[in-house]
Amino acid sequence: MRMPAFFLGHGNPMNALATNAYTQAWNNIGAGIPRPKAILAISAHWYVPYLAVTGMKEPRTIHDFGGFPRELFEFTYPAPGDPALAMRIRELLEPLDAGIDSQWGLDHGAWSVLCHLFPQADIPIVQLSIDETQPPQFHFQAGKSLAPLRDENILVIGSGNIVHNLHAYAWGRHPAEPFDWAVRFDSRVRELLAANDMAPLVDYESLGRDALLSAPTPDHYLPLLYIAGMRAGDDPVSFPVAGMDGGSISMLSVQFGG
Ligand code: ZN
Repeated sequence: MRMPAFFLGHGNPMNALATNAYTQAWNNIGAGIPRPKAILAISAHWYVPYLAVTGMKEPRTIHDFGGFPRELFEFTYPAPGDPALAMRIRELLEPLDAGIDSQWGLDHGAWSVLCHLFPQADIPIVQLSIDETQPPQFHFQAGKSLAPLRDENILVIGSGNIVHNLHAYAWGRHPAEPFDWAVRFDSRVRELLAANDMAPLVDYESLGRDALLSAPTPDHYLPLLYIAGMRAGDDPVSFPVAGMDGGSISMLSVQFGG
């Protein structure tokens, strides 16, 4: 039994406290898959100049943002860590030299979605950093190296946003019309995933102006490449969540495997 792999568009951290169409869809994802032994989360928000995997037994909830209400800073997601899984990930990534981290924990890219997938916080989680010094191909290959986890009852989740332009984002309460470049890039990525055409997805910077506006920095896009790298040949692809938030954040989620 191979565990499906997911890319989740996490969007606004306030989703952690909300009940809306996105959070309900995340809840359905958690309820609809076999219970994993543990989770590997690859979050846009652990984007640092090194490769590391969290090795602590009790990862802290990191509130890595500013300007949000106090109740969001008080939110905790007390899922345990999994030091043995951290060692297994380190082994799968060799000859890369992934460090075992004891400082990080769970950032909001991980907990703001996992709190809806698994509200009980009772499944162990480790996070893998995204090494910002490496090109897109590196991240796709790292995903390939980690693909055996899916056969070991480990749920792998990439958390970012395929379109993530905060300069264009409408922070107000009024629903904003999605930008045309955002809609085009979102559909282009969807088409390429459906066609299993990975090369242009990896080389996304070559996809023109829509890509530059949609992924002005790589951090929220790259988690997708890890999940794309984990795709097995016969995996169906589906999109369990879709939508554009604030005009310039795609909430699209991608599932490989059933
Ligand atoms: Zn984010």
